[in-house]
Amino acid sequence: MSEIRICSRCVMDTTAKEIVFDEKGVCNFCHQYDNVNIKDLHVNQGGEQRLNNLINKIKKDGKDRQYDCLIGISGGVDSSYVAYLVKKVYGLRALAIHLDNGWNSELAVANVEHIVKKLDIDLSTYVLDWKEFRDIQISFLKASVSNIEIPTDHAIWALLIKTAAKYKIPYIIAGNNVVTESIMPGSWLYGSKDSTFIKAIHKQFGNIKLKTYPSLSTFDYIYYLLIRRIRWVPILNYINFVKDDAKQLLIEELEWRDYGGKHYESIFTRFFHSYYLPVKFGYDLRKSYLSALVCSNQISRADALNELNKAPIDPELLKQDRDYVLKKLGLTEDQFENLLINPNKNFSDYSNNDSLWRNFSWVIKIARNFIIRVN
Ligand SMILES: [Zn+2]
Repeated sequence: MSEIRICSRCVMDTTAKEIVFDEKGVCNFCHQYDNVNIKDLHVNQGGEQRLNNLINKIKKDGKDRQYDCLIGISGGVDSSYVAYLVKKVYGLRALAIHLDNGWNSELAVANVEHIVKKLDIDLSTYVLDWKEFRDIQISFLKASVSNIEIPTDHAIWALLIKTAAKYKIPYIIAGNNVVTESIMPGSWLYGSKDSTFIKAIHKQFGNIKLKTYPSLSTFDYIYYLLIRRIRWVPILNYINFVKDDAKQLLIEELEWRDYGGKHYESIFTRFFHSYYLPVKFGYDLRKSYLSALVCSNQISRADALNELNKAPIDPELLKQDRDYVLKKLGLTEDQFENLLINPNKNFSDYSNNDSLWRNFSWVIKIARNFIIRVN
């Protein structure tokens, strides 16, 4: 095996097969970060003014409605901070949606409860049908693809859009952001918007019919975006989002408690990051999250490398998680081991709508630019 080469600016390396380096040893993800930073991050282009204009428009549009906006809340830093901004800083009347997929840690549940109570935000919790969801999750494990979090991510996304349409709430204010999330190799994680991919995998490996799982086709999405005019507002791209500061504020003002890892609010996610991906695929997602923090000058490259030298999780906790995940999914040790050693597959090994999504990206861009222009 050839030696692993690391970018000279961030901490991405040749475990991402699409990585290429320029003459200074800087990787394509760094260049991509700089591009996205210029295009999607509004902080340096009068972001505050733009955001104020946008907030005024949201308030005006919501005047005769019960809610100004919809937010998703997982209990993690980004979504909790969005709840804080929306209510406390901008005074918007928000409805919060929480997805319960059966894997939330007790701490996540406590954090969500504290936040909505302290901020006085209405909360609607959607509980996925466990039998259906378990069947989808096991299908993804059997499919041997890297992104087994797609069923959860897709359900949240579909639920937010459908709820916004149902209650006629035109704005979904979301915590996805350039600063901490923009470096992610496509080969590591295929996106979660593609319901054709989910259906194909479930059809091949699933055992029960899906009746209630929230999902959206590409055409549904275009309909909600263009006809129903539901707008997605990535609010953290308009402000100077410093993760550690946000965390500190949440701890002080909302009694929020830290999980000790990105997206560790769910036990399944923790297991996915700390075991499934590194062991089965050799992917360490900490590299991408830390690289985004390095590129946005929130930590030094040396500190990021130090962080990567540590084990991703305490071995005792990992053992607990593994036992819990297997038991909850109803898999024996042997069954799970067999799933791990199955040859790894790519998303393109299954039916998918990747090219359709690519072809429609211009529609999405126009809709996004429209939001920016009305400001
Ligand atoms: Zn780099």
